Amino acid sequence: MTESGKKWPVSIPPAGGMVTMLRGLRLRCPRCGQGAIFRGWFAMNARCPACGRLFDRAPGYLLGSIYFNYGVTALLVVIVYFSLYFSETLNGKQLLVLLTGFSIVFPLWFFRHARGLWIAFDERWDPWPNEEEARRGETGLGAGASDAPAGR
Ligand SMILES: [Zn+2]
Repeated sequence: MTESGKKWPVSIPPAGGMVTMLRGLRLRCPRCGQGAIFRGWFAMNARCPACGRLFDRAPGYLLGSIYFNYGVTALLVVIVYFSLYFSETLNGKQLLVLLTGFSIVFPLWFFRHARGLWIAFDERWDPWPNEEEARRGETGLGAGASDAPAGR
């Protein structure tokens, strides 16, 4: 049964890894590419409004997005640091102030995209619903929604 009585498509052909990651970066459901992950600046949809994919699959699941946020921030800081260092447009203290400010502001802005990337990365390697989620009936797709045996 679905939460709002809405029928979600049971099977969706998997997209390629790059398409899946781009969907996440654009804050779209990585499974179908249609539904929005966020409904506000910080508020997330529990499920994809278009296909029913759970966005927060388990307690602590979304913590993985920290790796994406940290990794992208660190990569950009390194690139900008060496670019400006060798161009000699700023001195060391100016560079430190600029990149410290960037390291504080950028992750705050990027946090939604990092979550989208994390959910897409997860969808790429562990497509929803996996066997265990289907067995526990967490799909919201109704009976017969998966290949897992029912009623066990
Ligand atoms: Zn979806």
